[in-house]
Amino acid sequence: MNNNESFAEILKGLQLKATTRRLAVLSILSGEQAYASPEEIWKKLKRKLNTIGLPTVYRILEELSDNGVITKIIHPSRQLYYYYCGNAGHHHHFICVSCRKVEDLNFCASREIENEVSRNLKGRVLSHILQINGLCEPCSRKKGAINAF
Ligand SMILES: [Zn+2]
Ligand SMILES: [Zn+2]
Ligand SMILES: [Zn+2]
Repeated sequence: MNNNESFAEILKGLQLKATTRRLAVLSILSGEQAYASPEEIWKKLKRKLNTIGLPTVYRILEELSDNGVITKIIHPSRQLYYYYCGNAGHHHHFICVSCRKVEDLNFCASREIENEVSRNLKGRVLSHILQINGLCEPCSRKKGAINAF
């Protein structure tokens, strides 16, 4: 199965039509080693599909992230980015705010948080989002990396 076929399967499973546009967005994002902005994705898309507007790209990205196919990255600068991670199990991301590298973190404190919420707030946790912002090893050695955003 090639990438496009497996993406088509994923979309079908979510009852989303495997349109050329959605598949093209997924193929671009899965080829990136880092998180990308909607504008950057749009520029690459325009080389494949010449008639696609930025608002359409925003909508597709939002739709794919709402369905959990891709991950929305909220950078400390407030700029929105997207990332494709092939790792399907529950995990979180460590993002480098400087070079945009993303690393999987298998650590999750959900048990402790759920206990805290039920004990102190008498509530129940339904879901959670956790993104760790930092500097990767090479960037943490570079002077001024923290000022890059
Ligand atoms: Zn880095
Ligand atoms: Zn991941
Ligand atoms: Zn978690």
